[in-house]
Amino acid sequence: MSLRTLKAIFGAVTVCFLVASAYLAVLVTERQKVLEDITHYNPAWQASQAVSEFMRLERRLDAFNVPGRGVDKDEVELRFDILLSRAKLLSEGRFQSIIQGDPDQQTTLRRLADVLVLVQPLMAELERPGSVQQTLQLLEPLEPRLLQLASYAQIRGGERIAQDQQELNRLYWIFSGLSLGLILLGLILIGLFSRHNQLLQRAHRDLHALTGHLAHAASHDALTGLANRVLFHEQLEMYLGRWRQAGIQFAVLCLDLDRFKSVNDTLGHEIGDALLRVVADRLRNCLRDGDIVARLGGDEFGILLEAKVGLETYTVLAKRIVERLSAPYSVDGREIVIGTSVGIASVEPDIVAPDQMLKRADLALYAAKSQGRGMFCYFEPSMEARLDERQSLEIDLRKALANDEFELFFQPQVNLKLNEINGFEALLRWRHPRWGKVSPAEYIPVAEDIGLISPLGEWVIRTACAEAVNWPRDIKVAVNLSPVQFRNGTLVESVRNALESTGLAPRRLELEITETSLLDENEATMAALHELRRLGVQIAIDDFGTGYSSLSYLRSFPFDRIKVDRSFVRDLSLRRDAMTIVQSIASLGAGLGMSTVAEGIETKEQLTQVRTAGYTEAQGYYFGRPKPAHELVYTLDPVLPVPSA
Ligand code: C2E
Ligand code: MG
Ligand code: MG
Repeated sequence: MSLRTLKAIFGAVTVCFLVASAYLAVLVTERQKVLEDITHYNPAWQASQAVSEFMRLERRLDAFNVPGRGVDKDEVELRFDILLSRAKLLSEGRFQSIIQGDPDQQTTLRRLADVLVLVQPLMAELERPGSVQQTLQLLEPLEPRLLQLASYAQIRGGERIAQDQQELNRLYWIFSGLSLGLILLGLILIGLFSRHNQLLQRAHRDLHALTGHLAHAASHDALTGLANRVLFHEQLEMYLGRWRQAGIQFAVLCLDLDRFKSVNDTLGHEIGDALLRVVADRLRNCLRDGDIVARLGGDEFGILLEAKVGLETYTVLAKRIVERLSAPYSVDGREIVIGTSVGIASVEPDIVAPDQMLKRADLALYAAKSQGRGMFCYFEPSMEARLDERQSLEIDLRKALANDEFELFFQPQVNLKLNEINGFEALLRWRHPRWGKVSPAEYIPVAEDIGLISPLGEWVIRTACAEAVNWPRDIKVAVNLSPVQFRNGTLVESVRNALESTGLAPRRLELEITETSLLDENEATMAALHELRRLGVQIAIDDFGTGYSSLSYLRSFPFDRIKVDRSFVRDLSLRRDAMTIVQSIASLGAGLGMSTVAEGIETKEQLTQVRTAGYTEAQGYYFGRPKPAHELVYTLDPVLPVPSA
């Protein structure tokens, strides 16, 4: 039953109760009146009293006439007065109502009154001879009529009493019924009250629970059930307060997941969500009671950690988190491997606001990520300076393209069979107005982060094609691509436009991609690669051997060329294993029908080694440094010793 229905019933019952109570009051008054009538008023008795007084007067008059009977005038007068008062009672309304329907009785009463009027003066002169006689003569004819009146009153009085008793009976039953009804209504009301109370209590409990639920929802992350950013902020403020008052040391740990985005992109958001829930569970299990862990955003988490047993607590926990979160996950029957990087900022005297600490932990996280995956890093003041540097780099970079501050340099690539230059790799150069030349290794990641890599990459492709179209023979141009360019979906279109607008033959354009682009191996990347291949463009895998070097990448797409990273070439004379790797990659390429390029050739000796290993092409300072387009020479320097295989 709803509270509303209950209220309606409650109202109706209350109205019934009030009406019944009012009616009961009326009944009680009525009953009271009837009882009063029965108790105080008896017409039969009144009539018989009057008759007996009448007869008593007659007897006194008789005795008055007989001397010696001891009846004097006063006594006769007294009897007469009594009779007068009795007769007066009979003339009143109540007795009149008894004889109302009987004209005979009314006549008797009228006659009595008349006779008494006549008798009254005779009373004063009783001693006068004949007056007693005269009085008795007046009275006597009335006697039988009065006796009849008395018996009539007797009968009517009895009837009236019977009627009153009946009425009393009726009232009694109504009264009892109503009383019972009232008791029932009272019971119903009590029942309704208690039900109402129960419902109210339940509503109160529900409301309480709902309020609690809303408060929880406002401060917790719906997906993982962890605290959210708002609650984390509040707690951080509290930790800061405690540190100021009681010196309790603590740290903020910021972490984000490595490769989570690619899980989301390739396996879908449902798996991504399920993975986040498992990550949240693992994080909870890493912590002690009382430590706070919150989800700050997509794959970002924050931890508030007290240094209960000393500052090494932070390191112990950071290591544990990195280790536990890197263990393989099994979600929906799939094996997933991700990792995490952790930034740690411990509380310092110069910290004034929670945001400051969060920013420091973020900077430390950024530093940890730049050191590679699965690392943790403590905040250092120099990071803030680096952040400032990075921010000004970002500002300058945004203006650089419009300000025409970029230039392409080209480095020759040599065909080792023909001993001739068969291509140039386009390498981006930025002439910064204040700092001069800035290395691509510094600004390419920033351009990727701030979304500038796509327009910049387009510019590189267009410019490289425009230059290459002027080169002799079939010399090709190699252009480096960032993994980010694959994600925005416009890559194929910009390559097609560049080829069409410059008129460069597609087979003279080679696109170099790194293993990072293939990490996700998602459908979009693969589709773009096949589309590019259909355009007639060549695809090379760059810096091979430095990343994950998964052989499955080589199977995922039929690359035209494998470029072995220059670090292996550099180590050729220093480490035996470098030679083994360089040789293996050469035979791998040969086996798969792909050309192999050795990067970073600086010496004749290195050139001999890679040639012996079976590389088809080579690139490096030995043949020439990257140069601006107008300085390019398309043939090998004739004085340069090029050993034959
Ligand atoms: P990368 O694609 O592996 O390019 C080769 C890098 O090795 C170039 O560095 C080149 O100058 C350097 N190098 C070539 N021969 C030698 C040598 O004999 N010894 C030594 N020590 N180094 C040599 P650079 O120009 O600084 O470029 C660094 C990286 O920046 C490139 O590595 C490439 O990954 C990236 N990059 C350059 N231009 C672009 C571009 O237009 N777009 C994208 N996305 N990345 C680019
Ligand atoms: Mg390259
Ligand atoms: Mg390379």
